[in-house]
Amino acid sequence: MKQTIEQKNLLVKFSEMGLHPHIMEGLDAMRFETPTPVQEQAIPRILNGESILASAQTGTGKTAAFLLPVLSQIEADPKPGIQCLIVVPTRELALQIDQNLQGLSYFTGVSSMPIYGGGDGTSFDQEKKAIQTGVDVLIATPGRLNSHFNLGYVNTDNVRFFILDEADRMLDMGFIADITRFREKLPKKLQTLMFSATMPQKIRDLARQIMENPSEINIAISKPAENILQVAYSVYDHQKVALVGELLKGKDLNSVIVFCSTRKAVGVLERKLSKQGLSCAAISSDLDQDEREQIMLDFRNRKITVLVATDLVSRGIDIANIELVINYDIPNDAEDYVHRIGRTARADTDGMAITLISPDEQHKFRRIEQLIEKEVRKLPLPEGFEPGPEYRAEGGKPRNKSRHKSGKPRNKFQKGKRKPGNNRNRQTNKPQQG
Ligand code: AMP
Repeated sequence: MKQTIEQKNLLVKFSEMGLHPHIMEGLDAMRFETPTPVQEQAIPRILNGESILASAQTGTGKTAAFLLPVLSQIEADPKPGIQCLIVVPTRELALQIDQNLQGLSYFTGVSSMPIYGGGDGTSFDQEKKAIQTGVDVLIATPGRLNSHFNLGYVNTDNVRFFILDEADRMLDMGFIADITRFREKLPKKLQTLMFSATMPQKIRDLARQIMENPSEINIAISKPAENILQVAYSVYDHQKVALVGELLKGKDLNSVIVFCSTRKAVGVLERKLSKQGLSCAAISSDLDQDEREQIMLDFRNRKITVLVATDLVSRGIDIANIELVINYDIPNDAEDYVHRIGRTARADTDGMAITLISPDEQHKFRRIEQLIEKEVRKLPLPEGFEPGPEYRAEGGKPRNKSRHKSGKPRNKFQKGKRKPGNNRNRQTNKPQQG
Protein backbone atom coordinates (compact mmCIF):
# COMPACT_ATOMS: atom_id res chain seq x y z
CA MET A 1 0.00 0.00 0.00
CA LYS A 2 2.76 2.46 0.87
CA GLN A 3 4.65 4.37 -1.80
CA THR A 4 8.19 5.60 -1.81
CA ILE A 5 8.98 9.22 -2.61
CA GLU A 6 11.01 8.15 -5.68
CA GLN A 7 7.97 6.40 -7.10
CA LYS A 8 5.80 9.43 -6.37
CA ASN A 9 7.33 11.57 -9.07
CA LEU A 10 6.32 9.08 -11.70
CA LEU A 11 2.71 8.71 -10.62
CA VAL A 12 0.08 10.49 -12.64
CA LYS A 13 -2.88 8.14 -12.53
CA PHE A 14 -5.09 7.19 -9.60
CA SER A 15 -4.74 3.54 -10.61
CA GLU A 16 -0.99 3.69 -10.01
CA MET A 17 -1.15 5.24 -6.58
CA GLY A 18 -1.91 2.11 -4.60
CA LEU A 19 -5.35 3.20 -3.41
CA HIS A 20 -7.64 0.46 -2.11
CA PRO A 21 -9.80 -1.16 -4.85
CA HIS A 22 -12.99 -0.08 -3.04
CA ILE A 23 -11.79 3.52 -3.22
CA MET A 24 -11.02 3.11 -6.92
CA GLU A 25 -14.65 2.06 -7.41
CA GLY A 26 -15.79 5.26 -5.66
CA LEU A 27 -13.51 7.33 -7.89
CA ASP A 28 -14.96 5.61 -10.92
CA ALA A 29 -18.50 6.31 -9.80
CA MET A 30 -17.64 9.97 -9.21
CA ARG A 31 -15.89 10.14 -12.57
CA PHE A 32 -12.63 11.47 -11.16
CA GLU A 33 -10.23 10.37 -13.88
CA THR A 34 -7.00 12.29 -13.36
CA PRO A 35 -5.55 13.51 -10.08
CA THR A 36 -5.31 17.27 -9.64
CA PRO A 37 -1.83 18.65 -8.78
CA VAL A 38 -2.51 18.68 -5.03
CA GLN A 39 -3.79 15.11 -5.22
CA GLU A 40 -0.77 14.06 -7.24
CA GLN A 41 1.54 15.45 -4.58
CA ALA A 42 -0.38 14.66 -1.41
CA ILE A 43 -1.81 11.18 -1.94
CA PRO A 44 1.51 9.26 -2.25
CA ARG A 45 3.00 11.09 0.73
CA ILE A 46 -0.05 10.47 2.91
CA LEU A 47 -0.04 6.79 1.92
CA ASN A 48 3.65 6.82 2.84
CA GLY A 49 2.74 7.84 6.39
CA GLU A 50 3.99 11.43 6.20
CA SER A 51 2.46 14.45 7.89
CA ILE A 52 1.62 17.22 5.46
CA LEU A 53 1.49 21.00 5.56
CA ALA A 54 -0.21 22.05 2.34
CA SER A 55 -1.18 25.42 1.04
CA ALA A 56 -4.06 24.72 -1.29
CA GLN A 57 -7.31 26.52 -1.85
CA THR A 58 -10.82 25.28 -2.33
CA GLY A 59 -11.31 24.31 -5.94
CA THR A 60 -7.94 22.56 -6.24
CA GLY A 61 -9.34 19.15 -5.23
CA LYS A 62 -7.78 19.30 -1.76
CA THR A 63 -10.67 17.48 -0.06
CA ALA A 64 -10.16 14.33 -2.11
CA ALA A 65 -6.39 14.80 -1.71
CA PHE A 66 -6.71 13.98 1.99
CA LEU A 67 -9.84 11.82 1.94
CA LEU A 68 -8.67 9.31 -0.68
CA PRO A 69 -5.49 8.11 1.07
CA VAL A 70 -7.06 8.26 4.54
CA LEU A 71 -10.18 6.31 3.54
CA SER A 72 -8.00 3.88 1.66
CA GLN A 73 -5.89 3.15 4.74
CA ILE A 74 -8.89 2.84 7.04
CA GLU A 75 -10.55 0.42 4.59
CA ALA A 76 -7.35 -1.64 4.34
CA ASP A 77 -6.78 -1.84 8.08
CA PRO A 78 -9.89 -0.89 10.08
CA LYS A 79 -9.61 -0.40 13.84
CA PRO A 80 -12.40 0.01 16.38
CA GLY A 81 -13.42 3.56 17.32
CA ILE A 82 -12.62 6.92 15.80
CA GLN A 83 -9.65 6.65 13.44
CA CYS A 84 -9.70 10.04 11.79
CA LEU A 85 -10.57 13.44 13.23
CA ILE A 86 -11.12 16.27 10.76
CA VAL A 87 -11.47 19.77 12.24
CA VAL A 88 -12.92 22.55 10.07
CA PRO A 89 -13.94 26.17 10.68
CA THR A 90 -17.61 26.07 9.60
CA ARG A 91 -20.55 23.73 9.58
CA GLU A 92 -20.96 24.26 5.82
CA LEU A 93 -17.47 22.92 5.24
CA ALA A 94 -18.10 19.99 7.62
CA LEU A 95 -21.21 19.06 5.63
CA GLN A 96 -19.44 19.46 2.31
CA ILE A 97 -16.53 17.24 3.35
CA ASP A 98 -18.99 14.65 4.62
CA GLN A 99 -20.80 14.70 1.26
CA ASN A 100 -17.49 14.20 -0.57
CA LEU A 101 -16.61 11.42 1.84
CA GLN A 102 -19.90 9.63 1.31
CA GLY A 103 -19.31 9.59 -2.44
CA LEU A 104 -15.71 8.44 -2.27
CA SER A 105 -16.33 5.82 0.43
CA TYR A 106 -19.54 4.46 -1.10
CA PHE A 107 -18.04 1.04 -1.79
CA THR A 108 -16.18 0.83 1.52
CA GLY A 109 -17.29 0.07 5.05
CA VAL A 110 -16.02 3.43 6.39
CA SER A 111 -18.53 5.44 8.43
CA SER A 112 -18.52 9.19 9.09
CA MET A 113 -20.36 11.84 11.05
CA PRO A 114 -20.27 15.62 10.69
CA ILE A 115 -20.66 17.35 14.05
CA TYR A 116 -21.30 21.07 14.33
CA GLY A 117 -23.08 23.58 16.50
CA GLY A 118 -26.42 25.17 15.89
CA GLY A 119 -28.59 22.06 15.77
CA ASP A 120 -31.08 20.98 18.41
CA GLY A 121 -30.73 18.51 21.27
CA THR A 122 -31.60 15.61 19.00
CA SER A 123 -28.63 16.21 16.74
CA PHE A 124 -26.34 16.49 19.77
CA ASP A 125 -27.62 13.12 21.00
CA GLN A 126 -27.12 11.57 17.55
CA GLU A 127 -23.56 12.89 17.47
CA LYS A 128 -22.92 11.54 20.97
CA LYS A 129 -24.23 8.13 19.95
CA ALA A 130 -22.05 8.07 16.81
CA ILE A 131 -19.00 9.00 18.88
CA GLN A 132 -19.75 6.37 21.51
CA THR A 133 -20.40 3.60 19.00
CA GLY A 134 -17.13 4.43 17.24
CA VAL A 135 -17.75 6.20 13.94
CA ASP A 136 -14.58 5.91 11.80
CA VAL A 137 -14.29 9.53 10.67
CA LEU A 138 -15.46 12.52 12.70
CA ILE A 139 -15.71 15.86 10.89
CA ALA A 140 -16.12 18.58 13.49
CA THR A 141 -16.23 22.30 14.10
CA PRO A 142 -14.10 23.29 17.12
CA GLY A 143 -16.87 24.55 19.42
CA ARG A 144 -19.00 21.46 19.09
CA LEU A 145 -16.03 19.13 19.38
CA ASN A 146 -15.07 20.88 22.62
CA SER A 147 -18.56 20.30 23.99
CA HIS A 148 -18.30 16.56 23.32
CA PHE A 149 -14.76 16.37 24.71
CA ASN A 150 -15.89 18.15 27.87
CA LEU A 151 -18.51 15.49 28.51
CA GLY A 152 -15.78 12.87 28.69
CA TYR A 153 -16.95 10.10 26.36
CA VAL A 154 -14.77 10.78 23.29
CA ASN A 155 -12.34 7.89 23.04
CA THR A 156 -9.35 8.92 20.91
CA ASP A 157 -7.13 5.87 21.50
CA ASN A 158 -7.29 4.73 17.87
CA VAL A 159 -7.18 8.10 16.15
CA ARG A 160 -4.31 7.93 13.66
CA PHE A 161 -5.20 10.79 11.29
CA PHE A 162 -5.69 14.37 12.47
CA ILE A 163 -6.75 16.70 9.66
CA LEU A 164 -7.11 20.45 9.81
CA ASP A 165 -8.83 22.01 6.82
CA GLU A 166 -8.80 25.75 6.14
CA ALA A 167 -6.41 26.26 9.02
CA ASP A 168 -5.97 29.97 8.22
CA ARG A 169 -9.70 30.47 8.52
CA MET A 170 -9.65 28.78 11.93
CA LEU A 171 -6.83 31.10 12.92
CA ASP A 172 -8.95 34.13 11.87
CA MET A 173 -11.86 32.80 13.89
CA GLY A 174 -9.78 32.38 17.04
CA PHE A 175 -9.74 28.57 17.17
CA ILE A 176 -5.99 28.04 17.45
CA ALA A 177 -5.98 27.35 21.19
CA ASP A 178 -8.72 24.74 20.66
CA ILE A 179 -6.64 23.01 18.01
CA THR A 180 -3.57 22.67 20.23
CA ARG A 181 -5.85 21.36 22.98
CA PHE A 182 -7.34 18.76 20.62
CA ARG A 183 -3.85 17.68 19.61
CA GLU A 184 -3.01 17.02 23.26
CA LYS A 185 -5.98 14.69 23.56
CA LEU A 186 -4.83 12.51 20.64
CA PRO A 187 -2.26 9.69 20.64
CA LYS A 188 1.38 10.72 20.40
CA LYS A 189 1.91 8.77 17.20
CA LEU A 190 -0.30 10.53 14.71
CA GLN A 191 -0.32 11.53 11.07
CA THR A 192 -1.31 15.19 10.87
CA LEU A 193 -2.51 16.79 7.64
CA MET A 194 -2.92 20.53 7.64
CA PHE A 195 -4.45 22.41 4.71
CA SER A 196 -4.56 26.17 4.50
CA ALA A 197 -5.39 28.56 1.67
CA THR A 198 -2.68 30.95 2.85
CA MET A 199 0.46 30.29 4.85
CA PRO A 200 1.03 33.19 7.27
CA GLN A 201 3.72 32.83 9.95
CA LYS A 202 1.12 31.99 12.59
CA ILE A 203 0.07 28.92 10.62
CA ARG A 204 3.69 27.81 10.38
CA ASP A 205 4.03 28.33 14.14
CA LEU A 206 0.95 26.22 14.75
CA ALA A 207 2.30 23.51 12.45
CA ARG A 208 5.57 23.46 14.39
CA GLN A 209 3.61 23.05 17.61
CA ILE A 210 1.39 20.18 16.56
CA MET A 211 3.33 18.18 13.96
CA GLU A 212 6.85 16.89 13.41
CA ASN A 213 8.75 17.33 10.15
CA PRO A 214 5.79 17.74 7.84
CA SER A 215 6.27 17.49 4.07
CA GLU A 216 5.33 20.80 2.51
CA ILE A 217 3.11 21.09 -0.51
CA ASN A 218 2.46 24.42 -2.14
CA ILE A 219 -0.45 24.67 -4.54
CA ALA A 220 -1.53 28.15 -3.50
CA ILE A 221 -3.03 30.05 -6.36
CA SER A 222 -3.33 33.55 -5.09
CA LYS A 223 -4.29 34.56 -8.60
CA PRO A 224 -7.78 34.08 -9.94
CA ALA A 225 -8.36 31.63 -12.77
CA GLU A 226 -7.70 33.09 -16.22
CA ASN A 227 -11.24 32.45 -17.39
CA ILE A 228 -12.82 34.88 -14.93
CA LEU A 229 -13.55 38.19 -16.57
CA GLN A 230 -12.86 40.82 -13.91
CA VAL A 231 -14.15 44.38 -14.12
CA ALA A 232 -14.76 47.13 -11.57
CA TYR A 233 -16.70 50.36 -11.13
CA SER A 234 -15.48 53.32 -9.13
CA VAL A 235 -18.64 54.48 -7.36
CA TYR A 236 -19.84 56.53 -4.42
CA ASP A 237 -21.34 54.48 -1.60
CA HIS A 238 -24.80 55.91 -2.21
CA GLN A 239 -24.73 54.68 -5.83
CA LYS A 240 -23.96 51.06 -5.02
CA VAL A 241 -27.47 49.65 -4.48
CA ALA A 242 -28.79 51.21 -7.67
CA LEU A 243 -25.77 49.94 -9.58
CA VAL A 244 -26.24 46.36 -8.37
CA GLY A 245 -29.91 46.59 -9.39
CA GLU A 246 -28.92 47.94 -12.80
CA LEU A 247 -26.32 45.21 -13.33
CA LEU A 248 -28.87 42.47 -12.60
CA LYS A 249 -31.99 44.00 -14.13
CA GLY A 250 -33.32 42.28 -17.23
CA LYS A 251 -30.27 40.04 -17.57
CA ASP A 252 -30.72 36.36 -18.26
CA LEU A 253 -28.86 35.22 -15.13
CA ASN A 254 -29.63 32.13 -13.08
CA SER A 255 -27.00 32.16 -10.40
CA VAL A 256 -25.35 35.24 -8.90
CA ILE A 257 -23.59 35.85 -5.58
CA VAL A 258 -23.26 39.36 -4.18
CA PHE A 259 -20.64 39.55 -1.41
CA CYS A 260 -20.79 42.07 1.43
CA SER A 261 -18.29 42.27 4.27
CA THR A 262 -20.81 42.82 7.04
CA ARG A 263 -23.98 40.99 8.08
CA LYS A 264 -25.78 44.31 8.32
CA ALA A 265 -25.00 45.21 4.72
CA VAL A 266 -26.17 41.76 3.60
CA GLY A 267 -29.59 42.27 5.21
CA VAL A 268 -30.05 45.80 3.88
CA LEU A 269 -28.99 44.92 0.34
CA GLU A 270 -31.16 41.81 0.21
CA ARG A 271 -34.23 43.82 1.18
CA LYS A 272 -33.50 46.51 -1.39
CA LEU A 273 -32.88 44.03 -4.20
CA SER A 274 -36.02 42.05 -3.30
CA LYS A 275 -37.99 45.29 -3.53
CA GLN A 276 -36.67 45.67 -7.06
CA GLY A 277 -38.32 42.33 -7.87
CA LEU A 278 -35.19 40.17 -7.91
CA SER A 279 -35.38 36.58 -6.65
CA CYS A 280 -32.98 37.01 -3.82
CA ALA A 281 -31.98 35.63 -0.40
CA ALA A 282 -29.46 36.62 2.25
CA ILE A 283 -27.09 34.26 3.99
CA SER A 284 -24.94 35.10 6.99
CA SER A 285 -24.27 33.80 10.46
CA ASP A 286 -27.46 35.60 11.64
CA LEU A 287 -29.46 32.63 10.34
CA ASP A 288 -29.76 29.34 12.09
CA GLN A 289 -28.40 26.13 10.69
CA ASP A 290 -31.60 24.88 9.04
CA GLU A 291 -32.31 28.23 7.40
CA ARG A 292 -28.80 28.39 5.98
CA GLU A 293 -28.97 24.88 4.60
CA GLN A 294 -32.36 25.56 3.02
CA ILE A 295 -31.11 28.73 1.35
CA MET A 296 -28.00 27.00 0.01
CA LEU A 297 -30.21 24.19 -1.31
CA ASP A 298 -32.60 26.65 -3.00
CA PHE A 299 -29.64 28.49 -4.51
CA ARG A 300 -28.08 25.27 -5.81
CA ASN A 301 -31.44 24.26 -7.27
CA ARG A 302 -31.82 27.67 -8.90
CA LYS A 303 -34.96 28.54 -6.93
CA ILE A 304 -33.07 31.66 -5.82
CA THR A 305 -31.19 33.66 -8.43
CA VAL A 306 -29.26 36.10 -6.29
CA LEU A 307 -27.55 35.11 -3.05
CA VAL A 308 -26.39 38.03 -0.93
CA ALA A 309 -23.70 36.69 1.37
CA THR A 310 -20.94 37.48 3.81
CA ASP A 311 -17.56 35.83 3.35
CA LEU A 312 -19.10 32.80 5.02
CA VAL A 313 -19.60 31.34 1.55
CA SER A 314 -16.53 32.82 -0.09
CA ARG A 315 -14.40 29.90 0.97
CA GLY A 316 -15.00 26.27 0.95
CA ILE A 317 -18.37 26.06 -0.70
CA ASP A 318 -18.51 24.42 -4.07
CA ILE A 319 -21.49 25.42 -6.19
CA ALA A 320 -21.27 24.78 -9.89
CA ASN A 321 -22.04 27.32 -12.61
CA ILE A 322 -22.21 30.61 -10.77
CA GLU A 323 -22.33 33.06 -13.64
CA LEU A 324 -21.56 36.26 -11.81
CA VAL A 325 -19.96 37.36 -8.56
CA ILE A 326 -20.49 40.96 -7.47
CA ASN A 327 -18.31 42.43 -4.73
CA TYR A 328 -20.58 45.03 -3.17
CA ASP A 329 -17.60 46.12 -1.10
CA ILE A 330 -13.91 45.30 -0.91
CA PRO A 331 -12.79 42.64 1.55
CA ASN A 332 -10.07 43.69 4.00
CA ASP A 333 -8.00 40.67 3.22
CA ALA A 334 -6.86 40.73 -0.42
CA GLU A 335 -6.91 36.92 -0.50
CA ASP A 336 -10.62 37.00 0.22
CA TYR A 337 -11.13 38.74 -3.12
CA VAL A 338 -9.58 35.71 -4.81
CA HIS A 339 -11.80 33.40 -2.77
CA ARG A 340 -14.90 35.41 -3.57
CA ILE A 341 -14.42 35.57 -7.30
CA GLY A 342 -13.25 31.95 -7.32
CA ARG A 343 -16.91 31.01 -6.77
CA THR A 344 -17.48 31.71 -10.45
CA ALA A 345 -15.71 30.04 -13.39
CA ARG A 346 -15.41 26.72 -11.64
CA ALA A 347 -14.72 23.49 -13.46
CA ASP A 348 -13.63 25.13 -16.71
CA THR A 349 -16.69 27.32 -17.23
CA ASP A 350 -16.23 31.04 -17.84
CA GLY A 351 -17.38 33.45 -15.16
CA MET A 352 -17.52 37.12 -14.43
CA ALA A 353 -16.64 39.17 -11.36
CA ILE A 354 -17.71 42.79 -10.91
CA THR A 355 -16.36 44.88 -8.04
CA LEU A 356 -17.78 48.14 -6.74
CA ILE A 357 -15.09 50.40 -5.30
CA SER A 358 -16.01 53.41 -3.17
CA PRO A 359 -13.45 56.20 -2.71
CA ASP A 360 -12.53 54.93 0.76
CA GLU A 361 -11.91 51.44 -0.60
CA GLN A 362 -9.54 52.34 -3.41
CA HIS A 363 -6.40 51.59 -1.38
CA LYS A 364 -7.73 48.13 -0.53
CA PHE A 365 -8.47 47.43 -4.17
CA ARG A 366 -4.96 48.50 -5.15
CA ARG A 367 -3.63 45.89 -2.71
CA ILE A 368 -5.77 43.31 -4.46
CA GLU A 369 -4.47 44.38 -7.86
CA GLN A 370 -0.93 43.96 -6.52
CA LEU A 371 -1.73 40.51 -5.20
CA ILE A 372 -3.22 39.31 -8.46
CA GLU A 373 -0.56 41.20 -10.45
CA LYS A 374 -3.20 42.61 -12.73
CA GLU A 375 -4.96 45.90 -13.18
CA VAL A 376 -8.69 45.22 -13.27
CA ARG A 377 -10.49 47.20 -15.98
CA LYS A 378 -12.59 50.08 -14.57
CA LEU A 379 -15.80 50.67 -16.48
CA PRO A 380 -17.70 53.96 -16.67
CA LEU A 381 -21.02 53.88 -14.80
CA PRO A 382 -24.03 52.94 -16.93
CA GLU A 383 -26.14 55.59 -18.62
CA GLY A 384 -28.36 57.50 -16.21
CA PHE A 385 -25.83 57.43 -13.36
CA GLU A 386 -23.95 60.50 -12.17
CA PRO A 387 -20.25 60.05 -12.89
CA GLY A 388 -18.42 58.13 -10.19
CA PRO A 389 -15.26 59.24 -8.39
CA GLU A 390 -11.93 59.13 -10.16
CA TYR A 391 -9.98 55.89 -9.56
CA ARG A 392 -6.41 56.71 -8.62
CA ALA A 393 -4.31 53.75 -9.68
CA GLU A 394 -1.17 55.15 -8.12
CA GLY A 395 -2.59 55.69 -4.62
CA GLY A 396 -3.34 58.83 -2.64
CA LYS A 397 -6.75 60.32 -2.01
CA PRO A 398 -9.12 60.51 -4.95
CA ARG A 399 -9.54 64.07 -6.16
CA ASN A 400 -13.36 63.94 -6.13
CA LYS A 401 -14.28 63.94 -2.47
CA SER A 402 -16.97 61.49 -1.32
CA ARG A 403 -20.28 63.14 -2.08
CA HIS A 404 -23.52 63.20 -0.26
CA LYS A 405 -26.67 62.01 -2.04
CA SER A 406 -27.39 65.64 -2.81
CA GLY A 407 -24.24 65.68 -4.92
CA LYS A 408 -22.59 68.11 -2.49
CA PRO A 409 -19.15 67.17 -1.23
CA ARG A 410 -19.28 65.76 2.30
CA ASN A 411 -18.33 67.90 5.21
CA LYS A 412 -15.23 66.42 6.83
CA PHE A 413 -17.06 65.33 10.00
CA GLN A 414 -20.46 64.75 8.44
CA LYS A 415 -22.55 61.75 9.49
CA GLY A 416 -20.92 58.53 8.36
CA LYS A 417 -17.42 59.99 8.50
CA ARG A 418 -15.37 59.10 11.50
CA LYS A 419 -13.96 61.85 13.67
CA PRO A 420 -10.32 61.37 14.48
CA GLY A 421 -9.97 59.44 17.73
CA ASN A 422 -13.63 58.40 17.80
CA ASN A 423 -13.85 54.68 17.24
CA ARG A 424 -17.25 54.12 18.75
CA ASN A 425 -19.29 54.07 15.59
CA ARG A 426 -16.58 52.67 13.47
CA GLN A 427 -17.88 50.40 10.72
CA THR A 428 -15.67 47.42 10.40
CA ASN A 429 -15.23 45.54 7.20
CA LYS A 430 -13.61 42.62 8.93
CA PRO A 431 -15.06 39.45 7.43
CA GLN A 432 -17.48 38.00 9.92
CA GLN A 433 -17.41 34.56 11.33
CA GLY A 434 -19.67 31.82 10.14
P1 AMP B 1 -12.21 20.91 -3.50
O1 AMP B 1 -11.00 21.76 -3.82
O2 AMP B 1 -11.86 19.75 -2.66
O3 AMP B 1 -13.34 21.74 -2.93
O4 AMP B 1 -12.75 20.29 -4.88
C1 AMP B 1 -13.32 21.09 -5.90
C2 AMP B 1 -14.21 20.29 -6.83
O5 AMP B 1 -13.43 19.45 -7.67
C3 AMP B 1 -15.20 19.36 -6.14
O6 AMP B 1 -16.43 19.53 -6.77
C4 AMP B 1 -14.65 17.98 -6.36
O7 AMP B 1 -15.69 17.02 -6.40
C5 AMP B 1 -13.96 18.12 -7.70
N1 AMP B 1 -12.78 17.22 -7.87
C6 AMP B 1 -11.84 16.94 -6.93
N2 AMP B 1 -10.89 16.13 -7.44
C7 AMP B 1 -11.23 15.89 -8.73
C8 AMP B 1 -10.63 15.13 -9.79
N3 AMP B 1 -9.49 14.48 -9.63
N4 AMP B 1 -11.26 15.11 -10.99
C9 AMP B 1 -12.43 15.80 -11.16
N5 AMP B 1 -13.03 16.55 -10.20
C10 AMP B 1 -12.45 16.59 -9.00
